[in-house]
Amino acid sequence: MRSLSRSNAHFKKANTRLPLGVSSNYRYWGDDKTIYIKRGEGGRVWDIDDNEYIDYRLGYGPVILGYADARVDAAAREGMNVGGVFALSTELEYEVACRISKMVPAAELVRFSNSGTEAVMAALRVARAYTGKDCHIILEGGYHGMFNEVMWYTELKNWTPGSGDPEVKPFGEGIPAVIKRLFHSVPLNDANALEDLLKKSHNEIGAFLIEPIMGNCCGIKATARYMQDVREICDRYGVLLIVDEVKTGFRVAKGGVQEMYGIKADLCTFAKAIANGYPLSVVAGREDVMRHIGDGVAHGGTFTGHSVSLAAAAKTLEILDETTALQDIESYGLQLQEGLSQILSQRGIVHCFTGHPSLMGLFFAESAPSNYREWIHSNYQFYDALAPEMHEQGIIIEPDSREPWFLCESHNVGCLQETLDKFERAVDITLQKLEQQRIPAAAGGPNHP
Ligand code: PLP
Repeated sequence: MRSLSRSNAHFKKANTRLPLGVSSNYRYWGDDKTIYIKRGEGGRVWDIDDNEYIDYRLGYGPVILGYADARVDAAAREGMNVGGVFALSTELEYEVACRISKMVPAAELVRFSNSGTEAVMAALRVARAYTGKDCHIILEGGYHGMFNEVMWYTELKNWTPGSGDPEVKPFGEGIPAVIKRLFHSVPLNDANALEDLLKKSHNEIGAFLIEPIMGNCCGIKATARYMQDVREICDRYGVLLIVDEVKTGFRVAKGGVQEMYGIKADLCTFAKAIANGYPLSVVAGREDVMRHIGDGVAHGGTFTGHSVSLAAAAKTLEILDETTALQDIESYGLQLQEGLSQILSQRGIVHCFTGHPSLMGLFFAESAPSNYREWIHSNYQFYDALAPEMHEQGIIIEPDSREPWFLCESHNVGCLQETLDKFERAVDITLQKLEQQRIPAAAGGPNHP
């Protein structure tokens, strides 16, 4: 067992000043399991007890090259010398915007913010201004940040088809009930459901906000056909297609998920991988739509276009655009999948992978779910039991099975073998524990009837 004595002691202290002892609810893993990080380098992090981990969480995706990447950090230091923020613009904004437009053809015009949340908020505001329609649609099981308009979900756990519309609930308390009327949701990969909704409500719906590889739902993927249908249906009903690439952007391909599917969004959002972990986000899109910013639509913020983040983004994007970094990450991901598969198959554990090799979901079923409705009834019990054992072994994956594994350029050959050895041990321990509790090993059956 690894020791977490320092982390545990720090948690007690931190909890007296910070709710849950952390700065984001999702970093709290329990009073005696919350870890505090001393530093990260490459694909690894060390906690304050000096436990070393290979990290496949990578801050939920921003770290595309590796922690403390010397190339990006040197650029960020130059950005520091520029001076930070001025309530005025710098030349680098244009340079980074040009790089983004080159990599993502849909990004005809670009505006910077700091977080994914801010970028998606801006995209929805621009879409409302352009279409004159206030409501939006997101996918069931989708996540688009910490603001009221998207913090709703469709309660499907206790819902049965044919029993009326499922209930829509807020993510938590403090979300104004009046906002609910703006929100609609549809299941992924069901173009008829989208069409039916728009037939009824297209007069009030201005945007469909979609993550075609659901980075917040195990990497469940849209089919190519579905994305083509979505593009066509949105056009037909005067609805803007907003592709949220906060997780997939500059990760699954140079041109993000739009390149993978061969589609062009009206608006798209980026954050995370754009600056290898420095806070920067982007709303971008069609010129005629984006020109509403500054011509009716407010957009800005004290910290937008910070010289450190912009310098980090310029270097990160240069590397991603001009080297084989993304291909290398994909190739590592495929090798990792092959190794994990071998270990699971040797033990008769049915499984499959979803998403993209650099943002992958591991499923304990023969085929991946095609939407959140199917995920609800899939077997994630084995994953839930496996994750803490992986942490004990020194591999960080997200405890919540809806979060995919993230890979970075620094995950090298050494990480691969070590990950596989530790995964094998964690699987065996998990199997033993489940056996003791008389819970059947993952065989693909439902665990949430
Ligand atoms: N959109 C998507 C698809 C995300 O995955 C996230 C965060 O994980 C966000 C938006 C919000 O980004 P941020 O946490 O930077 O505000």
